[in-house]
Amino acid sequence: MSNRLGRWRTALDLWRAQREGAAGLARRQEQRLAALLAHARSASPYYRRLYSHLPAERVPLQALPPVTKPELMAAFDDWVTDRGVTRAGVEAFIADPARIATPYRGEFFVCTSAGTTGRPGLFVYDRGAIDVYRAITSARVTPVWAGARGLLRMARCGFRWAAVLGTGGHYAGAGWIELERQRSGWRARALRVLSVQRPLAELVAELNAFDPAMLTAYPSALELLAQEQAAGRLRLQPVIVERGGESAEPGAMARVATAFRCAVRDLYSASECMTMAFSCAHDWLHLNSDWLILEPVDEDLRPTPPGQPSHTVLLTNLANRVQPLIRYDLGDSVLVRPDACPCGSPLPAIRVVGRRDDVLRLRAADGRSVKILPLAVGSVLDETPGLLRSQLVQTGAATLRLRLELRAGADREQVRRAAAARLGAYLAEQGLAEVEIVPASEPPEQSARLGKFRQVIAVPRAGAASGAGAE
Ligand SMILES: [Zn+2]
Repeated sequence: MSNRLGRWRTALDLWRAQREGAAGLARRQEQRLAALLAHARSASPYYRRLYSHLPAERVPLQALPPVTKPELMAAFDDWVTDRGVTRAGVEAFIADPARIATPYRGEFFVCTSAGTTGRPGLFVYDRGAIDVYRAITSARVTPVWAGARGLLRMARCGFRWAAVLGTGGHYAGAGWIELERQRSGWRARALRVLSVQRPLAELVAELNAFDPAMLTAYPSALELLAQEQAAGRLRLQPVIVERGGESAEPGAMARVATAFRCAVRDLYSASECMTMAFSCAHDWLHLNSDWLILEPVDEDLRPTPPGQPSHTVLLTNLANRVQPLIRYDLGDSVLVRPDACPCGSPLPAIRVVGRRDDVLRLRAADGRSVKILPLAVGSVLDETPGLLRSQLVQTGAATLRLRLELRAGADREQVRRAAAARLGAYLAEQGLAEVEIVPASEPPEQSARLGKFRQVIAVPRAGAASGAGAE
């Protein structure tokens, strides 16, 4: 009960913060940062050590050393602020697929970053953070996206929401929806996750039967579904279409909006911090700056001026206490809008310019061009026993090079055969049985010093496939 009261208070505070404008947002940011720093220094041995040379109080954010995923993961047990949360415990927990969306130790939400970000990260959210994200979704994001009439239409549809996402792992997107489904009977009926790995015809049939008011999918999946909608095989009347997870090609989202006859909304979210920003009617992402800080920086970690794309961003998550992220290198390139957004929101407006997961365009035996989604490839390969991470490099219209990095003690030949078999079976389901998979001797490559790992590297568009079916 106290939880529900807490959520109402959080929702009311979200509303007040926006009404108070920039000053109200900045005041909350400052207070929450001070509380987070005090907590991290007292309860996280990692941060206590990292900040030991700094004064006890009033340290400006910019004076704090940035942190990276490999550093934090290596120091996991010292990083967390609850001594009952351990890396071994979390790893044992996520190794069991039956525990997806069940709370770890009865209270924490756990997710792993998908293969697209390289070595998997393990992220643990406490109850306070979960309540903040729930409040942001219901009190801030959905009202802006749906509008008053849209909310009424959604209510008439029982708030049915279908999400076509990567499943089978503790991924933030699908895992979060599963967690929501377990809150109550009506949510269990109203929310549905459909695996992006399923054949398109099956997805279309299930979506038609479910008839959701809100549809969420990766841009590449949305494009395929929009083609089905335009062809009349998919017959949805969504109030909200939400894209997430990857950046979209120019023009593609306009086609999706036309097909579904509603605007395509964007949520900027990561395994490290959920619902960071949400798009407005002018297609800018508005940061929930009362609950997180994003610092766009250049290669030398100096602030990037508004209007210019950054090299990366440093994230400080003000909502989650159990695993403090303070000036964490997120790896995205972000551009901050220099002037006020015409939508009138006092929340800072940004664009994410560097989340470019490649979509593979492969040539089928009959000459058609078939699109393959990087996240689908990721969830197919990531489950291979003995595999730490993989990278697919397209070398021709129908050839792929498969780079593998193994877990300690794994048999290379065995893992290679298993990974190639999984990938081959998936491609065959998509009509790409002829595609050649060449095992590579070199390991996966990181694209830039602080840049994100790319699980899929496609060849430039022109040479990817014979034009049929492509844009
Ligand atoms: Zn706006």
